[in-house]
Amino acid sequence: MVKTLDTLLFLLVSIPLTAPAGSEDATRSLLNLGQLKKPHIPIARQWPADPNSAVVCLWPGGKTAAFSVTIDDNWRPDHAKWLALSKKYGWYWTWFVITGKVGTNVNFNGDWAHWQAMIDAGQDVQSHSFSHRSRKLNLPAREDYEKGLALLRNNLKNQRFCTLAYPGGGLPNDIQAGAQLHIGCRGTRGVLNPANRINYANTNSLSGLKSFGKPESHWASFAGMLNPKNRRKYRAWMCVHFHGLKGQEKLVEEAFSTIKKHEDEIWVGKFREVMMYGQERDTAEVTVSSQNGEYQITLRDRMDDRFFDFPLTIKWRLPQGWEQVKAVQNGVERPVTVITHDNNRYALIDIVPDRGVTHLQKR
Ligand SMILES: [Zn+2]
Repeated sequence: MVKTLDTLLFLLVSIPLTAPAGSEDATRSLLNLGQLKKPHIPIARQWPADPNSAVVCLWPGGKTAAFSVTIDDNWRPDHAKWLALSKKYGWYWTWFVITGKVGTNVNFNGDWAHWQAMIDAGQDVQSHSFSHRSRKLNLPAREDYEKGLALLRNNLKNQRFCTLAYPGGGLPNDIQAGAQLHIGCRGTRGVLNPANRINYANTNSLSGLKSFGKPESHWASFAGMLNPKNRRKYRAWMCVHFHGLKGQEKLVEEAFSTIKKHEDEIWVGKFREVMMYGQERDTAEVTVSSQNGEYQITLRDRMDDRFFDFPLTIKWRLPQGWEQVKAVQNGVERPVTVITHDNNRYALIDIVPDRGVTHLQKR
């Protein structure tokens, strides 16, 4: 089943920048969707009726909701505390770095060797622009973003640099330029992101975790994200941002231990991973064919493969008599989990879009 892609018009401007010359058509190498006019997939879980179709799960592993932590403005004094939290919970954070400040006031901003060490420790280091939209430096927004990315790309390795947090340093931001240069841009509107209506050019994000433990009626609390009756919050993505951690350690530990208790239902993803999964999912086309008792899944998306290679979780109903399934994409065995729903067996298979056909065999 193929659905039409329905994005904001202004984003089409980004296509010439992102289409590799001579490759397949430009509408298959998009960089940033902005916000879809209508959702590509529903919030409610889908259960395909037979093995001749498959669906993409809203979140990896078929999880219910998603959560991400981001930290702005360099904050070297807090790094050890955040690294300890990463180790304790097994999750990673996204650091939006003011790149023009790296190497100055090193006790606060760190130097490049220091940020490389953060990447090597599994943290994601991304752009908070070069100048933080400083009035003193007075750079046009596009140039500020380009310089932000260039410094990361020139000074750090072993990670992709392709997301931005809009800085609030004084000069205005430019959402269109943000979306033309990055696969995702984080804003600061303090509400949850509806799972299938994420605005990739300007995502919502909550300041810290002060509202996390509030009652379900609060717009930014955790309660309700796992409740199918909560129309506003069910299955949402909660993105939060921090500056200094001081005074908030207790709130953070409380929130993290709540999420840890529900980890089978909540995906804790890096900001960049959520941007990849969301946009691959929102443009995905999945087809199933069968031959001689073997099934094949073809998964494509419309995003630029240079930045988008996060596996999507595909849900597929097992044929009669199949207990388990082996999935092989391009010679590589892919992770499979078999679950049961209404006495029928379904496989959750992690497949990378545009990386070849996946063969499914009975096992
Ligand atoms: Zn900032």
